[in-house]
Amino acid sequence: MSSSDNKLNISALARDSVKAIVPYASARSSMSGGAVWLNANENALAPEYQLSGSYNRYPECQPPALIAAYAAYAGVDTSQLLVSRGADEGIELLIRSFCEPKTAGQAGDSILICPPTYGMYAISAESNQVSRTIVPLLPDFTLDLEAMFEAETPKLVFICSPNNPTGDLIPRQQILQVLDFYRDKALVVVDEAYIEFAPDASVLNLLSDYPNLVVLRTLSKAFALAGLRCGFTLAAPAIINALKQMIAPYPLAAPVAEIATQALSAAGQARMKQSVVVINQLRAEFIAFAKTQSAVKQVYPSNANYVLLQVADAADCVAKIAAQGILIRNQSSQIGLSQVVRVSIGNPAEMALVTDALSQYFKNQSSTNSTEITGAN
Ligand SMILES: *Cc1c(COP(=O)(O)O)cnc(C)c1O
Repeated sequence: MSSSDNKLNISALARDSVKAIVPYASARSSMSGGAVWLNANENALAPEYQLSGSYNRYPECQPPALIAAYAAYAGVDTSQLLVSRGADEGIELLIRSFCEPKTAGQAGDSILICPPTYGMYAISAESNQVSRTIVPLLPDFTLDLEAMFEAETPKLVFICSPNNPTGDLIPRQQILQVLDFYRDKALVVVDEAYIEFAPDASVLNLLSDYPNLVVLRTLSKAFALAGLRCGFTLAAPAIINALKQMIAPYPLAAPVAEIATQALSAAGQARMKQSVVVINQLRAEFIAFAKTQSAVKQVYPSNANYVLLQVADAADCVAKIAAQGILIRNQSSQIGLSQVVRVSIGNPAEMALVTDALSQYFKNQSSTNSTEITGAN
């Protein structure tokens, strides 16, 4: 229906100052229709779900069908599992349940983080007035165990594996050493948001040996449900019970629980595994392409659905690719990731577009570089 079909002219009713406004164009809004989003590690291979359509009752805090489905999928007991509004809420609940905030007279507890890594550990700690002890990863992106063990004892140690944004796995032997060192002192939180892309690397099977181990999982990445906001915390029942004291009475909307339960059905798991196969193949092809580009200084290995590239000018690269309607992410502000961009692996059509755009960008760049060299002569 065109606006002339409508007798009431809303734009004439609006205040003059509103009529005068040119809408602000954010990166996303300027790309509706034809946008290629490769900047948030989402899964582009998305299935559809059915809803019951009846929502007059409050939902259960921990919906039993969903808890049973994830416990079966992960191979844990239902008492070792908490479902929350994304893994992000799991991070927040761990900090709020275990760390004393700073007060006027007291330093409070701390969390230990190892950047470059996922930003929400620091953000959640900060918003809850909990201090951060920072022990950067070594240049090869493994843990600096010596420095970690010399630091003041934290309440929570966050380890991300596969690590976002580096893409690599933290060696199991290192995680074991951290678990042993903090056995009687602190909780070790292993964030496995991307573990479906490297399932053999999961440390979940250490849960029965280490009462201080906490594993974070999510449906946002391999399960292609970032919009659903559904994540899981897996740990000893005593830890899960502490988190349940802090969680809101109705953290998950009923449709969220319905969709998440369907995603964890046998068919849902099979679809997830199939999409992991497709994404791992597309990632291998993208890495092979990036390695042929002489303007790319480094292509980082990846065990997840994204790849890091070191380029000459990361901000310029992200801006020029965005001008083609394709969003990738600048990671240069992270420790150890100077001039590095992160490309999430999308669907085959999106990967063809980003590969073309990058290939054109790098070609223009090498011709600009050679002009500069000529100019210098
Ligand atoms: C995406 C991501 C999360 C957050 O997952 P949600 O369930 O969407 O909140 C947690 N950790 C890492 C490392 C992530 O990349």
